[in-house]
Amino acid sequence: MLCAVCCSTDLAWEPSSRRGTIYSWATVWRPPTPEFVVPYVVVIVELDEGWHLLTNLIACDPSDARVGAEVEIVFHDRGDLTLPYARLVNR
Ligand SMILES: [Zn+2]
Repeated sequence: MLCAVCCSTDLAWEPSSRRGTIYSWATVWRPPTPEFVVPYVVVIVELDEGWHLLTNLIACDPSDARVGAEVEIVFHDRGDLTLPYARLVNR
């Protein structure tokens, strides 16, 4: 991973509010492999701290995705991995 501003690889972990807004999104209709269930929504979330996170928008209809919609990041255990996902919220 790289810094999005200067391409530095000198990165560090920082705490986050896990809150932000949808910066951009796309609905995937054609699965890259048969294991993917479509449609699903890929989003870039702009977190309140200013960082961006590429993830999936879950627990909503794909037509609910909107730039600027408020989301929270939730974590789901996927066996060996714990992955972040975005979920719409009303603040
Ligand atoms: Zn940088």
